[in-house]
Amino acid sequence: MTPGQAHDRAAALRGLLARYDHAYHVLDNPTVPDAEYDRLFLELRQIETDFPEVRTADSPTQRVGGAPRSELRAVRHDVPMLSIYTETDKSEQGARAFDARVRKALGLSSEDAPVEYAVELKFDGLAIGLRYENGVLVRAATRGDGETGEDVTHNVRTIRQIPLRLSGAAPALIEVRGEIYMRRDDFEKLNQAQREAGAKSFVNPRNTAAGAVRQLDPAIAARRPLSFFAYGLGARAGWSVPTSHSTMLDAFAAFGFPVCAHRRVVNGPDGLIAFHAEIEAMRNSLPYDIDGVVYKVNSLALQEQLGFVSREPRWAVAHKYPAQEEITRLTGIEVQVGRTGAITPVARLEPVFVGGVTVTNATLHNQGEIDRKDVRIGDWVIVRRAGDVIPEVVGPVLERRSEELARFDLLASFPTCPVCGSHVVRVEGEAVARCTGGLFCPAQRKQALIHFASRKAMDIEGLGDKLIEQLVDNAIVKTPVDLYRLGVLGLAGLERMAEKSAGNVVAAIAKSRATSLQRFIYALGIRNVGESTARDLARHFGSLDALMAADAETLLAVTDVGPVVAKCIVDFFAEGHNREVIEQLRAAGVDWPEHAPAQHLEGPLSGKTLVITGTLPGLSRDEARAMIEAAGGKVSGSVSKKTDFVVAGEAAGSKLDKAQQLGVSILDEAALRAMLEPNAQNSLF
Ligand code: NAD
Repeated sequence: MTPGQAHDRAAALRGLLARYDHAYHVLDNPTVPDAEYDRLFLELRQIETDFPEVRTADSPTQRVGGAPRSELRAVRHDVPMLSIYTETDKSEQGARAFDARVRKALGLSSEDAPVEYAVELKFDGLAIGLRYENGVLVRAATRGDGETGEDVTHNVRTIRQIPLRLSGAAPALIEVRGEIYMRRDDFEKLNQAQREAGAKSFVNPRNTAAGAVRQLDPAIAARRPLSFFAYGLGARAGWSVPTSHSTMLDAFAAFGFPVCAHRRVVNGPDGLIAFHAEIEAMRNSLPYDIDGVVYKVNSLALQEQLGFVSREPRWAVAHKYPAQEEITRLTGIEVQVGRTGAITPVARLEPVFVGGVTVTNATLHNQGEIDRKDVRIGDWVIVRRAGDVIPEVVGPVLERRSEELARFDLLASFPTCPVCGSHVVRVEGEAVARCTGGLFCPAQRKQALIHFASRKAMDIEGLGDKLIEQLVDNAIVKTPVDLYRLGVLGLAGLERMAEKSAGNVVAAIAKSRATSLQRFIYALGIRNVGESTARDLARHFGSLDALMAADAETLLAVTDVGPVVAKCIVDFFAEGHNREVIEQLRAAGVDWPEHAPAQHLEGPLSGKTLVITGTLPGLSRDEARAMIEAAGGKVSGSVSKKTDFVVAGEAAGSKLDKAQQLGVSILDEAALRAMLEPNAQNSLF
């Protein structure tokens, strides 16, 4: 590199880094992953080392962070809040180089004893200074540009882990510094909720925490689960400061601050290296993100002697680990089919080393997420892999999108299930697209069979989850029809299956052939068709053929069936694979008494809607419901003007109050029985 080239490259890097700094520090919305920022930062630092004349005062290597946000009140730090020098060499040589620098600066020779270091984690959150006067929290400030931060006291007060008052004897003044962060599980929960609400998901815990702390409205911060670790000291008065960093942290813990337990005092570079390796091995199992470890000279007197360079202390260094977010190219999108038929788009990536492994695919969650993030095939994307969470595409690097790329449309690209070929649908208002071949699709086999055999469905005793898994894993059973072809011998060969219990299961399967239409409809596992909808459908249509022939409009006439349920039913029966399995089940002898459709039913409660509330003395809820329905009545969950009777038992609550308000007739169990009595003998069922 010539001096001219160095000058030009340095200027370009300064411009780029300034832009990234603004997005990250001011907007809490980084446009590139930290790893990319760090590469450029280190490149600039190297150029400035090789060509000192190109260094400018406004270079990011000479300054800390970003300008404070103008809407928040500015706070001048009594003691500047600095950065930490990042050791570029991620090998153990990095630790040795730091120790060598410290020894040199302290004028130690090889004969002198090893330097004592306090070692701790480098939490990936945001730095905060907490000022306590006479033991009371009076102000919380961000780092800002190191000289001036932002007053975020209103938000920090909402963080439970931060004491509002110190325990024990408090100094006149103490500013405790530390990191506000978001635990990974809290972050995942928050994002899950965002996705379910159809809102944009957050990028990573670090930026979510920073964004929350810098809100103007404390109510928003209060809803974000934030945590805190103390690790440093700012201004103080009236406090006899401990002599070492480690004992100072002990004192912080005694004041009531959370101090991370993964810290230690070690001697010399070997101690640093051992700690680095030990933490790297447990990094994935930590409940929060770290991007490295920090080594600090333990003696505060020596720290003072070492002092500072422009933006960082000489007595500390950050020794980083491989990045948990990286950039790579999105080369394609495929889909995976889950146990319930959910179709999850999966990004195919150019292999990238992230979070300690090489990643070639990552989840994109669903179409809505793809739209909100605007991820397109051919984009450069940020991939995150932290902890044991599956790798995820965080978003595109828009500034690298140079050509027009097509938006991805899951249903257009995957009209049919890649596993079974059934058609794929996405119900209006639902985030997830699904395979409709519930009875047939190999991906959904276990789930479908477990549901089919369950108590409220075909009620096959002894055919539990474990056994179904074995049957499927051994390819003995593929669809429910195969159950009716099972012999004792086929079952008895399975692990932990005695001949006697195999016989019982086969008998239970045989017995389940004689069922009811309601149970059979429920057993099909149609999405959104639960037990009570199955009952309504059975009553309304009277036969399976009538139900299978119904279009959405006809279905909407059924009580409690809305457009979403109607579509699920139509989609299910529109899938030929499902019809085939149903025909095979009938051919295998599965049968039920057909009865006339509901409109012809006559009973003492025909056309009446009842609500049951409280505990009845002699009937369970299910029994009462069955009696009412047998008499032609309908049981509803809530009281309205359309309710004809409320059946109230012991400890009836708000439903009874509502019935009284609306003037609905109220029955006790005896009155209900009396209404049904005359017709008990000639019940239609
Ligand atoms: P830094 O964040 O790497 O190190 C200093 C910070 O470390 C402190 O302010 C403190 O908050 C934190 N820290 C965590 N644990 C600590 C401990 N035990 N003791 C002391 N401090 C601890 O350095 P920086 O200069 O503040 O910021 C640079 C970081 O920000 C880099 O990770 C960089 O990648 C990222 N960044 C990213 C972008 C982007 O666009 N992605 C832009 C700018 C900066």
